[in-house]
Amino acid sequence: MHKCIVCGNKSKYTKVNRPGVIYHGFPKNAYMKKKWFKVFGIDRCHDWQRICSDDFLEENYKPGKKRFLFSNAIPLPYNPNGFLSNYATQSNDVETGNNVILPMEQNIIQI
Ligand SMILES: [Zn+2]
Repeated sequence: MHKCIVCGNKSKYTKVNRPGVIYHGFPKNAYMKKKWFKVFGIDRCHDWQRICSDDFLEENYKPGKKRFLFSNAIPLPYNPNGFLSNYATQSNDVETGNNVILPMEQNIIQI
């Protein structure tokens, strides 16, 4: 069984339950391997570690029935806090907005 080191997808059970998810080992090419390390912020890897197709763009794959990664494909940078921090910023904005907008609306209604 493979498990994606980036998003935690597993070969038997994916969070979205899609059969199309495939798993890639690190590149054999030392130069590309280093580039992948940089994306993940790591300095070494193991043979069993896999990165799933969710972490690549569609354009990283050669066109055709079988999905082959281009040899120069780089996985997407993983930001575990991306969604959460966006959400927090949004809810803060709404709160501030309400405080400012409400009195103005009341003024308008009174006129
Ligand atoms: Zn993944």
